[in-house]
Amino acid sequence: MDEGSVTSMARIGFIGLGIMGSPMAANLLSSGHEVTGYDRSTDRLDQLERAGGVRAASAGAAVSAADVVITMLPDSPDVAAVAGEITAHGRPGQLWIDTSSIAPATARAVAAAAPMPAVDAPVSGGEQSARDGTLSVMAGGPAEAFARARPLLDVVGGTVVHVGGPGAGQTVKLANQLIVAGVIELVAEAIVFLEAHGVDTDAAVRVLAGGLAGNAVLDRKAAGMLARSFTPGFRVDLHHKDLGNLAAAARDAGVAIPLGAVVAQLIGALRARGHGGLDHTALLLLVEELSGLGKAA
Ligand code: NAD
Repeated sequence: MDEGSVTSMARIGFIGLGIMGSPMAANLLSSGHEVTGYDRSTDRLDQLERAGGVRAASAGAAVSAADVVITMLPDSPDVAAVAGEITAHGRPGQLWIDTSSIAPATARAVAAAAPMPAVDAPVSGGEQSARDGTLSVMAGGPAEAFARARPLLDVVGGTVVHVGGPGAGQTVKLANQLIVAGVIELVAEAIVFLEAHGVDTDAAVRVLAGGLAGNAVLDRKAAGMLARSFTPGFRVDLHHKDLGNLAAAARDAGVAIPLGAVVAQLIGALRARGHGGLDHTALLLLVEELSGLGKAA
């Protein structure tokens, strides 16, 4: 492929092959792209090879082999560390798409320092949407860089929207995380309330989902919450990270997010009780504890 364009087949260097990165890389492979991947976990590299990808010995090796670098890492310091490898091994004609959810200020800083154009393209939808290739992708960066990234983002995403300049994708993702955390907490409170009244909760969830209270958390997460199944999914630790970034960004903008601040405290308390590795719907455990019905610790 000519550098500077993303034609039908791209050589992709994919760094960060976890819960989200792994199925995204698999979908890029299925749609005919070459993927050379790197992750700290050898299990994840084995998984990439089984899907038809090539394992790289380091992040730098994955960058060198690529036309397009895609990162899907946990947090701002991880992206900043890998950005060092991208700067050391990258070339101006490449493109970097960072799909991690990180602080907007970090996204702007690493994009400005990178040798190639960069797009911040965090995603929403979770593991199932990553498998289905139907993620919602909120992209920030120069319009030309987004246009080059678009064919690849369309492979992993169902809704792909350019929302502004560098860091804008991350800002929109923080708004997404504010809404998701708040809705999970409200659904958890509704479930504990309904159960305390002995209502048929399956029936209640069905009817609630059809009215103004309907939302994606009720549709996709309520069944797991009713069954007390909190296998991640999206880990409490990651949501805690996002709400920390949200608090800082809201403060920078001088904006009040009172309900967001309360939910951030609840997520922090759940994590302090040792539940950082559970799905974020485990907020239900905390509502039960606060109601004297169970013990989150
Ligand atoms: P994860 O922990 O499952 O995956 C991250 C991967 O990065 C791991 O496999 C880890 O080994 C690897 N890694 C970390 N540092 C590395 C480094 N320096 N070099 C190479 N590999 C490294 O996390 P995830 O759930 O896939 O989430 C990734 C990002 O996507 C996070 O920012 C998260 O907030 C966001 N996100 C997650 C979901 C979800 O439902 N899981 C949904 C939307 C967005």
